[in-house]
Amino acid sequence: FDRRIFNFAAGPATLPEETLRQAADEMLNWHGLGSSVMEISHRSKEFMAVYEETLHDLRTLMNIPNGYEILLLQGGGIGQNAAIPMNLMGLGKNGPKADFIVTGIWSEKSFKEAQKYGVAHLAASSEAEKFTTVPPRSAWNLSSDAAYVHICANETIGGVEFDHAPDVGNVPLVADVSSNILSKEMDVSQYGVLFAGAQKNIGPSGVTIVIVRKDLLGHSMPITPSVWDWAKEAANQSMLNTPPTFAIYMAGLSFKWLLKQGGVKAIAKQNQAKADLLYECIDQSSLYENRIAKLYRSRMNVTFFLKDEALNAEFLAQSHAAGLVALRGHKAVGGMRASIYNAMPIEGVKALVEFMRDFERRA
Ligand code: PMP
Repeated sequence: FDRRIFNFAAGPATLPEETLRQAADEMLNWHGLGSSVMEISHRSKEFMAVYEETLHDLRTLMNIPNGYEILLLQGGGIGQNAAIPMNLMGLGKNGPKADFIVTGIWSEKSFKEAQKYGVAHLAASSEAEKFTTVPPRSAWNLSSDAAYVHICANETIGGVEFDHAPDVGNVPLVADVSSNILSKEMDVSQYGVLFAGAQKNIGPSGVTIVIVRKDLLGHSMPITPSVWDWAKEAANQSMLNTPPTFAIYMAGLSFKWLLKQGGVKAIAKQNQAKADLLYECIDQSSLYENRIAKLYRSRMNVTFFLKDEALNAEFLAQSHAAGLVALRGHKAVGGMRASIYNAMPIEGVKALVEFMRDFERRA
């Protein structure tokens, strides 16, 4: 390609062009220091200023109450699948235990990993429905002695998204928001913990955001690795080890960009408009289909199938040639997937819809 494409990858994913340009502009000489931001000490006053501002902007964007700590860690969502039980399961009334709502591959991974650290109880699953929906709240079999309830707010692979934060009473709700953080307003006070890798809706991979209610700190199992012990990290400004400084700097640029767009409320409107365009195209077509229950269709990861699967290869080849890239669905489910995070402009979705309609006419 001799230009920027529309990149529908699930993550690492497309980033706002503006932030990439700024990073390029200041790559060799950042803030007049004569070096790039990734070549200076994480404890320097220059980097610490960026770090503080990044946390401050995230707190503003998500309206995170003071009673919540923001940690910037490493190891991704997969790391947190181990860290969460190690930090929280000890709060179980009768020993380490947590409830899991399994709505797809990511919550299933969280559920399985937690089994290493205590009792992981499957409170509800939509596996029998092939992960095309969220089990109705009335059918959840929550335990009375669980330390927390785990959900994946947006299943990146299946394309299933919770429409609201479920009510789980006084038990802390833990939500994996890796693929929908900052995409819509979330009332942080309804959660005990929110966690996300940055590489979908924020910036490059390498930094993992954990937002945790302060009273949930300090209950870790003795075996917890120090780098994933939330209380220790909170006491050390998430700098128990060298943080991913470049990823944090890029996340900071992305937060500034989002503030300029009008914040989460404004981007949520655009995200809804983008998703509506694409689902409308799919629903009106006789070639494409989406299999997710309408209420739980993801606004971030739009999955669809060609009813004639023999056309898959041609669809992928032609879309790629048209500069619409990375539409192949995850191998676990097949079909197609268009990830349309905050940084995907509506023009990208319009171009995709136009291509899909044209492809169908020609098919
Ligand atoms: N949870 C969800 C919902 C995800 O989409 C992903 C990554 N695709 C993960 C967890 C794992 O994140 P990481 O690769 O950062 O460990």
